[in-house]
Amino acid sequence: MAEFTMELNDEQKEVRDWLHGFAADVIRPAAAEWDEREETPWPVIQEAAKVGIYSLDFYAQQYFDPTGLGIPMAMEELFWGDAGIALSIVGTGLAAVGVLANGTEEQIGTWIPQMYGDAGDVKVAAFCSSEPDAGSDVASMRTRAVYDEAKDEWVLNGTKTWATNGGIANVHVVVAVVDPELGSKGHASFIVPPNTPGLSQGQKFKKHGIRASHTAEVVLEDARVPGSCLLGGKEKLDERLARARERAKAGDGERVKNAAMATFEASRPAVGAMAVGTARAAYEVALDYAKTREQFGRPIIDNQGVAFQLADMRTSIDAARLLVWRASWMAVNGKPFTAAEGSMSKLFASETAKKVTAEAIQILGGNGYTREYPVERMHRDAAIYTIFEGTSEIQRLVIARTLAGMPIR
Ligand SMILES: Cc1cc2nc3c(=O)[nH]c(=O)nc-3n(C[C@H](O)[C@H](O)[C@H](O)COP(=O)(O)OP(=O)(O)OC[C@H]3O[C@@H](n4cnc5c(N)ncnc54)[C@H](O)[C@@H]3O)c2cc1C
Repeated sequence: MAEFTMELNDEQKEVRDWLHGFAADVIRPAAAEWDEREETPWPVIQEAAKVGIYSLDFYAQQYFDPTGLGIPMAMEELFWGDAGIALSIVGTGLAAVGVLANGTEEQIGTWIPQMYGDAGDVKVAAFCSSEPDAGSDVASMRTRAVYDEAKDEWVLNGTKTWATNGGIANVHVVVAVVDPELGSKGHASFIVPPNTPGLSQGQKFKKHGIRASHTAEVVLEDARVPGSCLLGGKEKLDERLARARERAKAGDGERVKNAAMATFEASRPAVGAMAVGTARAAYEVALDYAKTREQFGRPIIDNQGVAFQLADMRTSIDAARLLVWRASWMAVNGKPFTAAEGSMSKLFASETAKKVTAEAIQILGGNGYTREYPVERMHRDAAIYTIFEGTSEIQRLVIARTLAGMPIR
């Protein structure tokens, strides 16, 4: 087990500074343009691929950092640059992690390289779980996967929504129901390979923030994928379903549901770290502005009303980061999330980002309200953190039920 320390090691500091340089020199200057264009920033993804930030190697290195701080540190720096562009860069990683976590060696080796493409021809991937009638309530998912034994193929039908990179991805990872009797334990994940007939993009959403990140519906109409595209393989699925059926029969269904929720505890701190990045970016702009903007013959930071606001902003950002780092450390060291500490970190960091970015607009006055300054964009971007990967209400529900020892539905 890695010894606990509050300090990044030399290697981590080097990576952090490298990422910060990319965020400051490449991402931030492009942010306003791609926000206005509401399009995937392919040239920026290409730049990231050229320097090695957009790659499985980089993502895996951070993911397997024994201190647990690799991913939160990387997320904070990239999202400090710009949330929409950063999501375009890390969105593929979120889909790749699904394959890394559940796929066989062969599936990992076959599909993950196709998710990224290469620096000369970059590709992206999408993770498709949410549906129009299954957002917070994942168990009510309706997309069906039916096995055609004669052809050793799975047939997928349904509509996915809100998929980051949905429809423009080279590889889609789709979660579907294989046994409707088992709720979320009857779900399985499938790779949908490039150019699979029957997969199409539905509407592309015009969003409030993170507008450089593509979000769309994904429609599956008799989309057939080879048996080898079931993540983890058929044997493992059959064993898992048999166990779940036995537990359901024994009336142990609640434990089944809790087991599904537990996996999110480890991934939610990464979203918390994105929120910390956006909050820190807005706070830094506000601090600089408060030091240089003069009214009544002195910098506005000389007013306690403004200075105290900045003090509170900085305090909550640091508190959010500590919660994120704690949960990431717990995840990597296999500590049980007895108080839903992963959800806690995401809840606090995302609410902090919304609040801090709003306060930054106030400190910049009229300028804060214009697109000449980045804080209004950061505020629009920050609103996503309290919605995706479980809304703030769902985080509270998970924390409350965990504390009460109640089942998580
Ligand atoms: C930009 C963007 C990108 C996304 N990317 C992806 C992606 O790549 N892949 C993917 O699968 N999904 C993605 N999502 C989907 C996202 O995870 C869902 O939007 C989210 O889980 C909420 O679901 P919903 O929108 O259906 O809201 P709903 O579940 O309908 O919730 C509506 C409101 O009701 C509240 N609510 C619901 N149930 C309860 C309850 N029991 N108690 C209290 N309050 C409750 C919610 O908190 C919320 O305030 C993305 C969403 C967005 C906006």
